[in-house]
Amino acid sequence: MSISSLQDDMFAELRGHRLLDRARSHACEYVDEIRGRRVFPADEAILGLQAFHEPMPENPTTGERILSLLHAQGSPATVASTGGRYFGFVNGGVLPAALAARWLADAWDQNAALHLTSPVASELEAVCEGWMVDLLGLPAGTAAGFVTGSAGATLCGLAAGRNELLKRLGWDVDADGLFGAPRLRVVAGEQAHATVGKALGVLGLGKARVERVPSDGQGRMMTGQVPALDQSCLVVAQAGNVNSGAFDDLVGIGERARRAGAWMHVDGAFGLWAAASSSKRHLTLGAELADSWSVDAHKTLNAPYDCGVILCRQRSALVAAMQTSASYILGSGKRDGMHLTVDMSRRARGIELWAALKSLGRSGVQDLVDRLCGHAELLAGSLARRGFRILNDVVFNQVLVACDTPAATEATLARLQGAGECWCGGTTWNGQSAIRVSVCSWATTGDDVERSVKAFVAARDSAGGGGRPV
Ligand SMILES: *Cc1c(COP(=O)(O)O)cnc(C)c1O
Repeated sequence: MSISSLQDDMFAELRGHRLLDRARSHACEYVDEIRGRRVFPADEAILGLQAFHEPMPENPTTGERILSLLHAQGSPATVASTGGRYFGFVNGGVLPAALAARWLADAWDQNAALHLTSPVASELEAVCEGWMVDLLGLPAGTAAGFVTGSAGATLCGLAAGRNELLKRLGWDVDADGLFGAPRLRVVAGEQAHATVGKALGVLGLGKARVERVPSDGQGRMMTGQVPALDQSCLVVAQAGNVNSGAFDDLVGIGERARRAGAWMHVDGAFGLWAAASSSKRHLTLGAELADSWSVDAHKTLNAPYDCGVILCRQRSALVAAMQTSASYILGSGKRDGMHLTVDMSRRARGIELWAALKSLGRSGVQDLVDRLCGHAELLAGSLARRGFRILNDVVFNQVLVACDTPAATEATLARLQGAGECWCGGTTWNGQSAIRVSVCSWATTGDDVERSVKAFVAARDSAGGGGRPV
């Protein structure tokens, strides 16, 4: 096929919307079926993915054929995380308005690097920055960089903190690197998320050098055990433990950090959204004392993947750590998003974040947070009444569940995952095997909770785990 006829074919695919209409009809079919589907794909659907493994094709394939392949082999092998009974990891669902906005924005295919590459992406990022600072109760003027997720956001926040602390100590780490630099100390909880360690490794701060603060039974840093802090300290606290959902004492830790002139980062991947709910806001008290915050929009807020945000009190510190200069890039005096993140070219994820926030409004975000937490409480209560043990204080959207013995817990989890009615992951909590439930989709209903509880009981019965008498 010649180059020009390939181009003609592509124009033909766009003309009359043949291809986009087909994508729309497959997507609509998927959305229509999602609530009745197995939550984790069956083995045969996963086997079907082998159809994709072929040598690099020598010749073009039509868009129609590509969509057929994706829908036939890909759709059945997806994890149904947009339905109401997926409780794995801390994976959010997707808000309808944000999904639809993304479809439109995909047709725009904007590069959010600069205002000059996409005025609309730049302005919507500016709007989201202001709205998030407001919703999360952070200091006025806080800057936001839009990244892939909390892992990336934490990397940016800790880079800003590292550079700023070293600058105050008279060292330009951006220019001179870490060799010969004054020593920084890193203080973090024993149960800091794995992405914090990763960021510290990448930033040359060393995973093994972290001064680990012991945690209490809920996974919170024991504030009294935080070592004496000084102006060489990066302190990493957590708003939402990835297992228990527990929040560190951000007031106690934040006050110490501020007094000492340390830099405090809060990993609030899913938990920082508690600040948007009047009934959960007490959990994030003190968060405003920090210098930087990482938060995901693709978890609690249910924006589409991927969407994380780094928030930084001192805009200049984030920009100093992240800005890129090149002869062909002129400062526009407008918001150039790439100077707030590690990326240059970027997907314009601010568009669907804006759509998510706009579609909910302040009351809708609160309603969403309260609903996730309410369903987590409902699930925990129902499981407890049926003889399961709840291992954590359910303060947010996370529930840790166990049977009477570790073997029964593990067997129940395996049956639960195999049955496909709902899906939860496993974890180890304070040395015990546990089933980890994260209620993180707007689409979860009371009925989904009830069906899931039944699935837990059936899994335990079929695993022979028995239940304690009610
Ligand atoms: C999910 C999570 C992360 C990592 O976030 P990604 O969006 O997956 O990069 C970090 N910290 C906590 C507490 C999390 O729950």
